[in-house]
Amino acid sequence: MTDGVPTSVQDLRRRDLTRHLRIQGIHDARVLAVMGSVPRERFVNAETADWAYEDRALAIDCGQTISQPYIVALMTEALELTGSERVLEIGTGSGYQAAILSRLAAEVFTIERHSELSHQAQQALARCGASNVHFHIGDGSLGWPDAAPFDRIIITAAAQEFPTVLWDQLAPDGILVAPVGDSERQILQAWRKTAEGPSSRALCDCRFVPLVSK
Ligand code: SAH
Repeated sequence: MTDGVPTSVQDLRRRDLTRHLRIQGIHDARVLAVMGSVPRERFVNAETADWAYEDRALAIDCGQTISQPYIVALMTEALELTGSERVLEIGTGSGYQAAILSRLAAEVFTIERHSELSHQAQQALARCGASNVHFHIGDGSLGWPDAAPFDRIIITAAAQEFPTVLWDQLAPDGILVAPVGDSERQILQAWRKTAEGPSSRALCDCRFVPLVSK
């Protein structure tokens, strides 16, 4: 992990990224402001720091990836955060998505199966001053029953099918955002928990690493 280039250049790159995201269709002003303020270079490896503000996924340790900024912004926007929510994230990875969420929600609970990634993410988030993120190392497909229910749930790895166990940990009127599909084809979807059952909305085609579960 590295700061890469001087801060002023990074400020310009973040501003360019925000402009790019707006052109791509991200409208939520709070999401855009946060995407323009979190230093993504702190969440990538030294070898890829030069590309930290390109709109692309990058390799991180343990054979995993940090998602493309557009997808992070799109998923965050779909969560419709107002600032009071408790959010569960499955797949801490680099911690970048958790950092974005930490500035838009009250509390973030994030689960990662690789302890090495979780520890790196904990350090990166501490450096960003995030004090409202709780970390757990383990199988996120089981959720975090002790801290449930959650107002929002975001899965940043591809589930093969609708994640019923996690759905049960979502509060009434809550929103779940997740990519669902196999390694060939995945669709990013948002579901709201209504009294009549899940109401779903497809966001886009996507490609995530698989949600590994027992
Ligand atoms: N949100 C991350 C993206 C991480 S990629 C970021 O902002 O960087 C997806 C992550 O999900 C990987 O780190 C992978 O190890 C993790 N993962 C996959 N299956 C998991 C499971 N069952 N429980 C917890 N984490 C899981």
